[in-house]
Formats: sequence, C-alpha cells, structure tokens
Amino acid sequence: MELLKKRILKDGIVINNSILKVDNFLNHQIDTKLFNEIGKEFKRLFEGQTIDKILTIESSGIAVASFASIHFNYVPVVFAKKTNSSIIDENVYTSKVHSFTKNTDYIIRVSKKYIKDGENVLIIDDFLANGCAALGLIEIIEQSGANVAGIGVVIEKIFQGGREKIEKRGYKVNALASIENFDDNKIIFK
Ligand code: 5GP
Repeated sequence: MELLKKRILKDGIVINNSILKVDNFLNHQIDTKLFNEIGKEFKRLFEGQTIDKILTIESSGIAVASFASIHFNYVPVVFAKKTNSSIIDENVYTSKVHSFTKNTDYIIRVSKKYIKDGENVLIIDDFLANGCAALGLIEIIEQSGANVAGIGVVIEKIFQGGREKIEKRGYKVNALASIENFDDNKIIFK
C-alpha cells in the first residue's frame, strides 16, 4: 500500500535495526483518514471471503480492527485481553504469548461468548514480527471451533519470521507494508 509506505518512510523511526516506532500515526496518535484507507485495503485483499467477525489483541490492534470492520459491513470486533492472572476461568479461551518487544510472557484471553463454533474469523493486528501474537490468536480461534479466515497486518517485518510460521499452519497472511530488513536503521521494503 503506497500511501502507507510513504507514511512509514516519512514518520517511522527505526531503533536498533529491529523496532519500528510509528507512534505518529499508528501506536500513539492515530491518523483516522489513513486508518480508513487501511480498512478499505484489508477488505480488498480478503474480498470474496465470508468474514463473520474480526479478532485482534489489545491495545494497538483495536483501532485498526475497528476501521477494518466498517469495510466488512460492520462485523463485530473482538479483542483478546492481556492478563497476568493465572486464575482458571472456564468461560474463556486462553493462550500464552511471548512478547519480544517487552521480553515477557503473558496470557491472552477471550470470552467464550464472543467466538463461536463455525464462525469465520479474520485476525487483524498492527505488526507482525515473530508471529507470537498472531499464533496466540490462531490458537484461541482453533480452541473455539471457529475458522481462521486469514491474518491481516498493517506492517510486517519479514526478517523476524512470523509469516513463515503462520503459513506453515496453513493460513493466509496479507501485510499492507512488508519490511525486508533494516539497514543501518534505514527501512528496506520488499
Ligand atoms: P510478534 O508477536 O509478531 O512478535 O509481535 C507482534 C506484536 O508486537 C504487535 O502486536 C506489536 O504490538 C508488537 N511489535 C512487534 N514489532 C514491533 C515494532 O517494530 N514496532 C512496534 N511499534 N510494535 C511492534
């Protein structure tokens, strides 16, 4: 998505050749006009597929998924909550996720009320890096008996291997901007 790539080049800051900071339009301040275009592009990329629901993860995924929902005929958006609690709750699906940006493990949970057997669920998130967040969401959908309709991410960092892991599980990944690498903190798109 050219508009997005231009914006990343204009406002993105690369840290240690590994983390892309895009607080200016995605992770802190939100450019709603750009988000609307992002939502439209997800719709185009998953055209022809039945999508009953969008699943994301708090917090930055929520706004992206919400704008996407508008273009998928306002399907409900469900977000997995991050928690440190180890209390067993029979009414939720859970999965363990490792965060490489924060170097910690956390549990994500989704109420069984909001994902049902047989539904077609599209996963949307802001970044795809090592794939842990997306794989955690996939695990939750698989537990519920719903179908993973695909994974849509705004920015993918190919060199961290997330896409490979997800495709190996048999699911389709669509990224709106794919970063091949960082070279001396410069962004190299695919
Ligand atoms: P993964 O689980 O695929 O390793 O990482 C995905 C999650 O980590 C995303 O939801 C995002 O919040 C965060 N993340 C990973 N890499 C980056 C990055 O380069 N920049 C920002 N802002 N977030 C990232």
